[in-house]
Amino acid sequence: MELEAVIGLEIHAQLSTKSKLWCGCDNDAFGAEPNTRVCPVCMGFPGMLPVLNSEGIDKSVRGAAALGCKIQKFSKFDRKNYFYPDLPNGFQISQYDQPISKNGKVEISVEGKKRMIGITRVHLENDAGKLTHTKSGTLCDYNRSGTPLIEIVTEPDLRSPQEAQVFAKEIQKILRFVRTSDADMEKGMMRFDASISLRPKGEKKLYPRSEIKNLNSFASLLKALQYEIKRQKKLWEKKTPPEKEATVGWIDDEEKTVVMRDKEAAHDYRYFPEPDLPPVTFSEEEIQKIEEGIPELPLSKFHRYKTDYKLSEAEALKLSEREELAEFFETSVKLSDEPKKSANLILSVLLSRDDWYRGFVTPQHVADVIDLLGNGKISSSGAKEILNTAMEEKNKGKSAKELMLDLGLEQVSDTGELEEWVDRVISENPASVEDYKNGKEKALQFLMGQVMKVSGGAANPPVVLEMLKKRLSEK
Ligand SMILES: [Zn+2]
Repeated sequence: MELEAVIGLEIHAQLSTKSKLWCGCDNDAFGAEPNTRVCPVCMGFPGMLPVLNSEGIDKSVRGAAALGCKIQKFSKFDRKNYFYPDLPNGFQISQYDQPISKNGKVEISVEGKKRMIGITRVHLENDAGKLTHTKSGTLCDYNRSGTPLIEIVTEPDLRSPQEAQVFAKEIQKILRFVRTSDADMEKGMMRFDASISLRPKGEKKLYPRSEIKNLNSFASLLKALQYEIKRQKKLWEKKTPPEKEATVGWIDDEEKTVVMRDKEAAHDYRYFPEPDLPPVTFSEEEIQKIEEGIPELPLSKFHRYKTDYKLSEAEALKLSEREELAEFFETSVKLSDEPKKSANLILSVLLSRDDWYRGFVTPQHVADVIDLLGNGKISSSGAKEILNTAMEEKNKGKSAKELMLDLGLEQVSDTGELEEWVDRVISENPASVEDYKNGKEKALQFLMGQVMKVSGGAANPPVVLEMLKKRLSEK
């Protein structure tokens, strides 16, 4: 019997807001001393009241709209009750039956094939604190408590661990693109729970799934799903497929899953409406404005760069990944009308430095360098040197042309001056001229070198070469 995997994801992403979701505490606590970014609200002290951070709403609806979701005119918050040391209130404020957005879809491209993955909902909630288990006990750090999160829930549309991984990476790109989340996996800003079940291929029915909790990297998402498929496959082969839903944990070091408990159902959390927060409402016009504000997304750019600009797959992928890079590239294309050359310079020169995007080198520099190259004013190594120099802070505001002159990179293409040099070299080297006429190609290289020497390196090599050949054929 051939089995197929049915996979759905829940993705938690921290929003890149200045302050936390219900209080004014600094939301950027990475690397800070434990429990130094806290206040009575995010510590869950009795009698404290949450106040909704409007930036949290803005970023969440922008992210949701970018995932194709419909922003809801009315949404509300609910308390999700459970006891755990990382949750000082004893409840999380989340959204249960009326989330902020629903019904989205995200396109992914897996090995050249297009797939549409449905998004059930995106809702807003707060993060919990962080626990560190040591030999002597468990340490609690509440700096993260109250950080705004969106939870993205997909339909069970994914069919392989690889698809799930590609999808998760696409979500990361989109959230970064619309500045909803920095989605830095290493800082725990994006985490996954993955649900997976198997079924005989061709069946539509869904079988009891296991939910793998807290996957913190793209690699563990892939490995955990691969492992769980193998585990469930064995059960199917023994004719004892999973009978009930289970929560399983992924042990990174051992690369295996362990069944922890039966999966929680909604009633285990005793949800009820959050009494201390008003609902969130949007008018039709406001929703429209949010939707119109969503820029062209990475995958669409990727396709466009390939078809319209004739970039290679790798070039298009790299340039469409981050908003600032895509914008830089597109502006250089607008200014130069040379997509391929712009891509080449940006990828090979600019991106070889991590600090390229500090605003010193501009799309205008790239366009000007392409222009100078085209006019034979500079060589390709000169182009590299100009762009590298433009990335230095001390050269801020200097144009490509100014840098060319500063660096003495201007090549002489003026035929009058070049002719003089060429003639001089020909008359001073009769032996080499003779050799060339007798078919020794190497002699041409020698003469060429002489002209460059006479010019002090300023002659434009391709122009010199043409001129030399012409002159030699005349004599
Ligand atoms: Zn606080």
